[in-house]
Amino acid sequence: KNELLKKLIGKPAKTKDNKRIFLNANIGGVAEIEEINKYKPDGVGLLRTEFLYMDSNDFPTEDEQFEIYKKISEELGKDKYLTVRTLDIGADKKLKYFTIPEEENPALGLRAIRISLKYKDIFKTQLKAILRASNYGNIKIMYPMIASLDEILAANTILEEAKLELRNAKIGFDDNIKVGIMIEIPSIAILADFIVNEVDFFSVGTNDLTQYLLAADRLSHEVANVYTNYHPAVLRIINSVAEIAIKNGKKISICGEMGGESMGVLAFLSFGITEFSMLPSLIPKVKMLIQNIDEKALKGLKEKLLSSMTTEEIKRNLNDYILGVM
Ligand code: PEP
Ligand code: MG
Repeated sequence: KNELLKKLIGKPAKTKDNKRIFLNANIGGVAEIEEINKYKPDGVGLLRTEFLYMDSNDFPTEDEQFEIYKKISEELGKDKYLTVRTLDIGADKKLKYFTIPEEENPALGLRAIRISLKYKDIFKTQLKAILRASNYGNIKIMYPMIASLDEILAANTILEEAKLELRNAKIGFDDNIKVGIMIEIPSIAILADFIVNEVDFFSVGTNDLTQYLLAADRLSHEVANVYTNYHPAVLRIINSVAEIAIKNGKKISICGEMGGESMGVLAFLSFGITEFSMLPSLIPKVKMLIQNIDEKALKGLKEKLLSSMTTEEIKRNLNDYILGVM
């Protein structure tokens, strides 16, 4: 079986009825270029840039960041895009050289885009580094933890300032760079139809979306029984976002843990989602599953999933389906 999986590396993922599915990688930095070369994803759906900041003794400079984004992007090549998520620190992710105020509920506190919008210089430095790298590769920008339209507009204003500064300095960048957001806070999922025209793509962060939807800490052992990605509310909200993205011709991808799990991928295929981002090593197994799925035959499964009232029923439906096709 391992040999079979190995043979799939580098081949495009296609369903049994020939629907092309895109399988991207989640990475944390340059160190994972090796993994990329080994598992050959279609692109990078999520570069978690916070690791670059966490592994450093001070804020990485614009030049340092530029070199890193450029290197990863050049390794991928022009035909594979690199999605750079802007800084997502706070909660469990801390920096040695930058104190975030202690809060009762750090997961609900000052973090991610909220920090970027409060400390605009940090944000603009990162955006300029990403923009400069976009002159050398196929790069997209993604904002984490967006909760409202205002935040998208505020972030885009700073992006425009960064572009203007580069333009004035005659430094090249991709002027049509695509800008998307993470869908990982319920408010923005609920308002997806309001904001869909303000962005180029959605990427669903199922880890945080589940945490905030169920009010269950993703890291807590005490409520691990409450935290489940296969809760009916999680599937329903993701399906509604998918419908809006598809109707408006916007790309939607899944980049949380579910996007690398057989059950999750199957559920989302039935919702019409064709792009997933995961740990590189999970790609062959997901590809194998996809090969055994008849995309056009998933309608019934979708209806079953969306009418399942319990997590248990959802998982049973997904498992039974997988057993039936594999
Ligand atoms: C998520 O929340 O699902 C996600 C992909 O982001 P992170 O795990 O880095 O919070
Ligand atoms: Mg997240």
